[in-house]
Amino acid sequence: MQNLADKRCFNHAQREAVARCPACIQFFCRECITEHDDRVLCAACLRKLARVPLLRRRGFARAFRGAQVMLGLLVAWLFFYLIGSALLSIPASFHEGELWQRGWLDKR
Ligand SMILES: [Zn+2]
Ligand SMILES: [Zn+2]
Repeated sequence: MQNLADKRCFNHAQREAVARCPACIQFFCRECITEHDDRVLCAACLRKLARVPLLRRRGFARAFRGAQVMLGLLVAWLFFYLIGSALLSIPASFHEGELWQRGWLDKR
């Protein structure tokens, strides 16, 4: 095993290295290295690693929101379509068969 004390930070030449980034195989000081998902990575590799899933997640969220809006519009359209068709069917039966008028008059 290599002695870390002899190594210097990749970014800070005057600082002692505390860990080695497994991604870029460079030594880094305490300030430059970060723990991410139980893995020790340097700031540059972490940024590289974090950028892709974040964009993917944001894109997915946007797509999901778009799908939700579309579904909402579809439900709203269906709702008003059903109400509209129901409202259209009611006057049609009222007007076509004048039974309700005759029946109502005959009863009197
Ligand atoms: Zn790295
Ligand atoms: Zn450093």
